[in-house]
Amino acid sequence: MTKPVEVMNYVGGAWTMASGMETLPVVNPATQETLGQVRFSTGADVAEATAAALRALPGWRSTPATERIQFLFALKQRMEAAFDDLARTITMECGKTLDEARGEMRRAIENVEVACGIPLMMQGDVSEDIAAGIDELMIRQAVGVCAIIAPFNFPGMIPFWFLPYAIACGNTVIVKPSERVPLTMQKVFGLLDGLGLPAGVVNLVNGAKDAVDAILDHPDIKAVSFVGSTAVARHVYARGAQSGKRVQAQGGAKNPIIVLPDAEQDVTTKIVADSAFGCAGQRCLAASLTITVGEAGGWFTEAIAEAAATRQVGYGLDDGVQMGTVINHLSRERVEGLIGTGEREGAEILVDGRGTVIHGYERGSFVRPTVLRGLPAGGELARTEIFGPVLGLMHVKTIEEAIGLVNSGQYGNMACLFTSSGAAARQFRNQADSGNIGINIGVAAPMAFFPFSGWKESFFGTLHGQGRHAVEFFTQTKVVVERWPSEWTRRF
Ligand code: NAD
Repeated sequence: MTKPVEVMNYVGGAWTMASGMETLPVVNPATQETLGQVRFSTGADVAEATAAALRALPGWRSTPATERIQFLFALKQRMEAAFDDLARTITMECGKTLDEARGEMRRAIENVEVACGIPLMMQGDVSEDIAAGIDELMIRQAVGVCAIIAPFNFPGMIPFWFLPYAIACGNTVIVKPSERVPLTMQKVFGLLDGLGLPAGVVNLVNGAKDAVDAILDHPDIKAVSFVGSTAVARHVYARGAQSGKRVQAQGGAKNPIIVLPDAEQDVTTKIVADSAFGCAGQRCLAASLTITVGEAGGWFTEAIAEAAATRQVGYGLDDGVQMGTVINHLSRERVEGLIGTGEREGAEILVDGRGTVIHGYERGSFVRPTVLRGLPAGGELARTEIFGPVLGLMHVKTIEEAIGLVNSGQYGNMACLFTSSGAAARQFRNQADSGNIGINIGVAAPMAFFPFSGWKESFFGTLHGQGRHAVEFFTQTKVVVERWPSEWTRRF
């Protein structure tokens, strides 16, 4: 047992306590050990953080980009040194396996590395002589104070889709982690605190809805990056826009995977199982539906049921564990309820993960991998994001029908195809209404130098997180038209 952590805010270069009355215990979902307690921030706490960020802004945005990125190089070194500690913290507060947590931290660090290229990436454009003696230039400048609001499922990675780019571009930031998993950012801010950044460049505000709404309404916060469920993403997009902010809001998902009869059987089964059951299905890029075409229905159904039934479920810190917990008991009840919904809708449960009890972790929030066959198209389970280790199978006769089913969904976060046909892959890539596409890939997570491209109800906005999109989001363009006629200039 470790001593529970009092989760603190970090404002203007100092650790402070939130002033709200409400608190929430941070609980290890596998062991039920209380790891800490988070006190919720109020509008006044958000205002204080915003004031600190605003004070830091003039100095920071006029610091040369080449100097700003030196802090990121140092941050990378510190994150590498703290890598295992951060990964363990993620596993303990979030429930995923240690390998999954390490993968998450690796992507976080990759985003720091990419943002180190800001001096090149935020360069502007110049056109000489757009008319006689007149030049025009476009420069990119910081937007101002930016806020980052994160979900529970990637406590280490998701703030890093935004934070390194935001500060590298000369903005100052406020991070609001999920109140369910605040410990990872607590440690990351410990690393940031040691960098010697000017006070107020990075700020941490813990809390929930009240803190988010205060961010959305604050007139001095100019940009909001949000990742979470679609309902909240829609709220954040609308309310942020109402107060004139630029907003990028990434929402939920219901990711379909098509398996064609010519797919390589063993590889396909393994990759789809990893996609559906990895991180206990709590990835926004988790496979939730598999649509088999023609003869794939037979072999795939049998193989995926076997893969689901034999997956090693347990505490993410233990060796050999392939799948951990869902985030809490409430989530387990919700997932088990949705499995029941599928059953009532006429699906056949091939592997049933309800009522899971893991020896040694009897109080943990576990749901074993579940596979349902014959989900009715358009039914509740075929439409609803489950966010648990549950895979629904549907079967059709042609690739056109399968793509039709993919495109009938309300979300557009990811769609994948398994095949050995280049022509089928090309057709799918062209026709699938989704922003992240996998061809023989089960989790089409864009590298840090590509945008995380959700579509439809999975994204509200125009510029996504990561890479060049992030650079555009965190800068505003200024166009300058200059006339310097030679007759006005003294000759020397
Ligand atoms: P969530 O929407 O419940 O919470 C996200 C953030 O919003 C948290 O910081 C939370 O404090 C805040 N929040 C919650 N309710 C709010 C409200 N009513 N008003 C204002 N703020 C509120 O999401 P979650 O459960 O933490 O995360 C899981 C969801 O995130 C899933 O739907 C998943 O698909 C999605 N997700 C999407 C992506 C993506 O890139 N599209 C990535 C990861 C997760």
